[in-house]
Amino acid sequence: MASSSFGRMPDPLQQRSFGRRRNVCPDPECAVGVAMSLRDRRQVYPIASSNLIVTTDGLVVYEELWSCDLCDRATVELVGVMDQRGTSQEEASVSWRRQVWPEPLPRNLSEDAPELVRSLFTDASKAENAGSYRLAGVGYRAAVEEICKDQGATKYKLDDKITELAERGLPQDVVDAMHAARVVGNDSIHQNLEYAAAEIADLAKLIEEAALTLYVQPAERRRMAQARTARSEAARASK
Ligand SMILES: [Zn+2]
Repeated sequence: MASSSFGRMPDPLQQRSFGRRRNVCPDPECAVGVAMSLRDRRQVYPIASSNLIVTTDGLVVYEELWSCDLCDRATVELVGVMDQRGTSQEEASVSWRRQVWPEPLPRNLSEDAPELVRSLFTDASKAENAGSYRLAGVGYRAAVEEICKDQGATKYKLDDKITELAERGLPQDVVDAMHAARVVGNDSIHQNLEYAAAEIADLAKLIEEAALTLYVQPAERRRMAQARTARSEAARASK
């Protein structure tokens, strides 16, 4: 980390053990909770070697290169740190962290799911990637509401729609996922409550699993049945 030694601004992160952290690998083939290692970091704002006088309001931005300990895939992140001069450097905190390369891909539901459900889910995921967790919570709730309508729920309130579907035999894990999305969405809209990144990510995974049960697995069974029919018709035709 030689680059920070000539910087004008103090480097609060230098004081900490910040070399490794647990994260979800951005490689979709890897994509598990893995250890990531910090390979390089440089101050990009304000420019350390420039004569330019800038008002930073105490913000220092670093560019960091991380690699996945499992697959070696690299990611570049920008980190904003508020430089609190006059206080101990330990108190300087990471204000935000954003993956800039490779650009984080939005989550997608299978094409077996209805188009409106898929587009709501993808939009929610884009909000999640941008760090807008309240909006992501609202969006994931909207995707679940659309799943309920697609499954034939007729009640007005989402809570009642889910109960209606539960009474008609919807699998319990799907019902639980729907209620989780309903609660997060309601908190995001009405309670002005922002959930943490990991909680929103867990919710997205619950909806992915619900879509697997409701749309993907039945579609696969249909495709297998069609293939069986086609095979037996071909066998009869060849006799
Ligand atoms: Zn990896």
